Amino acid sequence: MKLSMTVDCCSTPGLKPFTEALTQILSSMTRLTEIELISLGDANNRILAEDLCSQDILPPWNCSAMDGYGLNHSTFEAGQTLTMVGSSFAGHPYEGEVAAGECIRIMTGACLPDDCDAVVMQENVQDDDNQITMASPIEQWQHVRKAGSDIQAGETVLPKGQRINPRNIGVAASLGLAKIPVYRQLKVAVFSTGDELVPPGDTLQSGQIYDSNRYSVSAVCKRLGYEVIDLGLIADDYEKIKAVMIEAAASADVLLTSGGVSVGEADYVKPILEEIGELNLWKVAIKPGKPIAVGAIGDCKFFGLPGNPVSAMVTLNLLVQPAMQKLSGMDLIPPTIIPAICDSNLKKRPGRRDYQRGTAYPDPNGNWHVESTGNQGSARLTSISQGNCYIVLDEDSNGVKAGETVNIQLFDEVIR
Ligand code: AMP
Ligand code: MG
Repeated sequence: MKLSMTVDCCSTPGLKPFTEALTQILSSMTRLTEIELISLGDANNRILAEDLCSQDILPPWNCSAMDGYGLNHSTFEAGQTLTMVGSSFAGHPYEGEVAAGECIRIMTGACLPDDCDAVVMQENVQDDDNQITMASPIEQWQHVRKAGSDIQAGETVLPKGQRINPRNIGVAASLGLAKIPVYRQLKVAVFSTGDELVPPGDTLQSGQIYDSNRYSVSAVCKRLGYEVIDLGLIADDYEKIKAVMIEAAASADVLLTSGGVSVGEADYVKPILEEIGELNLWKVAIKPGKPIAVGAIGDCKFFGLPGNPVSAMVTLNLLVQPAMQKLSGMDLIPPTIIPAICDSNLKKRPGRRDYQRGTAYPDPNGNWHVESTGNQGSARLTSISQGNCYIVLDEDSNGVKAGETVNIQLFDEVIR
């Protein structure tokens, strides 16, 4: 038999190409339907469940954008001296009339009377005992934020499915909304497996290392605005892990474990999932991160992340995070991928898609470059903590020479 030299990831049994795996995972996620009204102050990071529409116009009235003088430009004649007849301060409108030959003193954010249609900056005005002269020509609506110029009545200002963030929470407040409808919080249970693991703070005995995955995984979920149920560290014991998985699945929407999903003799997570739930996907053709068990236990979605810390982080970020985001009601945002000149030589064998870690920066001409973070071992957490992007090397790539152009995917706001 003639052996082909081309390595095709699909020829390795059970190894799914990344895009196929992601599509399959996303297709099995159904958005939450439960909606709750919450106070705006608690809404950051939550997912908007209905379009936010403005009832009214914004600004509600013509508003001065400057400290200066309000007047009617159509009755104004160049060189004319105007008599100042009153003042409009923010929160204290001028209630009188402004006739031809008159003006008012007006401050930024104050209401412009109906008789006025322009504001002249105070720097361009001479005030001689309430007799006002100005040199510059005047245009209608200059330095005025016209009523309705920001937002129209009935306009959709935030579409549903958006994550509430510091930028758009202010918009909701500016519309006067004290409460907004959001999807209920996703409940995510998290535990680590491994006899060698101890929590940070303990003293390491021989053969032990600190559990880092539970902390990074929980941090991602908290950034996403989810309720995290931390189930701690579970020993490599079939019955113990099984009991915790059954208990977690009964109370959480999603269960995330790390470790024990490979083919080692103490890797119990996958066989337990097959016993008490369903395994839909195992092993994705990416590096780092090949072994990841995806399935469900009853109504609870299950993701068994690889134990190696970088693999856990990368599979969580690239495969599990979009799945949880869809589940939580969020519209997915495609990753930002840009070409960059690679400053480093990169080793790779054809087969899986690599998500190597790099530091991207623009050179003085505005061209993006990327430098490898060094040793890409899947246990070396600093290879991801010290970078700001993935260097995405496609399945058939067999490495990169310095100077070649590669695609980089900037770390998203969740892990940045
Ligand atoms: P496993 O998938 O359980 O065989 O673990 C693969 C590697 O990842 C081993 O070297 C483990 O010690 C390490 N590992 C597993 N879980 C964790 C964790 N929670 N934190 C840090 N390292 C881990
Ligand atoms: Mg283990």
